[in-house]
Amino acid sequence: MKIPLFDLRRMNQPLLSEFRELIDHVVENSDFISGPAVDKFEKNFSNFCNAKFGVGTSSGTSALHLSLLACNITCGDEVITTPHTFIATAEAISIVGARPVFIDIDPKTYNINPQLIESAITEKTKAILPVHIYGQAADMNAINEIAKKYSLKVIEDAAQAHGASHYGIRVGGLSDVACFSFYPGKNLGAFGDAGILVTNNDNINRFTREFRDHGRSEKYIHKSLGFNHRLDTLQAAILDIKLEYLEEWTKKRKEIARAYEELLQNVPVGLPFVHKYNDHAYHLYVIRVKQRDKLKNFLNERGIGASVHYPIPLHLQPAYKDLGYKENSLIEAELAAKEVLSLPIYPGMRLDEIDYISKAIQEFYCK
Ligand SMILES: *Cc1c(COP(=O)(O)O)cnc(C)c1O
Repeated sequence: MKIPLFDLRRMNQPLLSEFRELIDHVVENSDFISGPAVDKFEKNFSNFCNAKFGVGTSSGTSALHLSLLACNITCGDEVITTPHTFIATAEAISIVGARPVFIDIDPKTYNINPQLIESAITEKTKAILPVHIYGQAADMNAINEIAKKYSLKVIEDAAQAHGASHYGIRVGGLSDVACFSFYPGKNLGAFGDAGILVTNNDNINRFTREFRDHGRSEKYIHKSLGFNHRLDTLQAAILDIKLEYLEEWTKKRKEIARAYEELLQNVPVGLPFVHKYNDHAYHLYVIRVKQRDKLKNFLNERGIGASVHYPIPLHLQPAYKDLGYKENSLIEAELAAKEVLSLPIYPGMRLDEIDYISKAIQEFYCK
């Protein structure tokens, strides 16, 4: 059997005729930048998050960049974030001239540990940037409480958590501004790069809308300097079709997670821990094992696309060596990087495939 980590073809195949019709329509109109399709998707996605505004962007990374700019984060500022994430989270902080301050994670959920935030706050701290890693919300209640106490902004990196919720509230509506990625492999994926930020804040909405389109207020009037961070029309139209299926797909992901949980009950691997107050969107199904690399190779040899997210915590990335973090400084994040293993999970995955993967893991431990 061959079971890749993601199989986008299986998700897209049933919608092919819808996509074809839509692409014909967009080509017919030949209106490839901005327009009603972008407005419509922004409206639908922000409604999905129960947020007032949605601003489409060229990627999740550009949504993060715009959000930090909109929160006035700049040179000399500090932003508290997690090291257990994709580099884009911290890159966005660095690109506006601020300094990412990495703090350790909760080893059960792999999310930022809110108990460590207060001691990392200095007079330079301007914001907290939690990531809802793997699809489970960070402890937003605790994070927002601290932010309120110290007048800090909160920016959610929700790139992996479309549709996840926290105490019944969808991620995206839990902070000043939240950023989503529509990279093809994400829970809602475009046919290329795309992203969005959602917010309830009028000023953030206005600033980011203008900045993503060269600071334009009218066609040839540039009120301020901005850049090109736009979401293009074709991607918006495709995402709008796929958004209708997102809840159903998330349900399927949860069913697969439940199946893994049952089948791996008696195997010595750490299964995902989900807080009672969280609804997990299962972008990734991540188990925790001591002989991680051995198990990964064992599964890869059997055609199973097990993979690691992420093998090097950000504070130890070569690009961040100037920040001066040493090994053993963020112990839980460093340990997690050695022990996490992502198993295939996607809508359209069959029960016999989950069975095959679970049996292979059992076999590894019986050897
Ligand atoms: C994918 C991802 C991003 C970046 O999104 P792009 O659309 O690829 O720019 C940022 N943060 C996290 C946690 C991600 O998983």
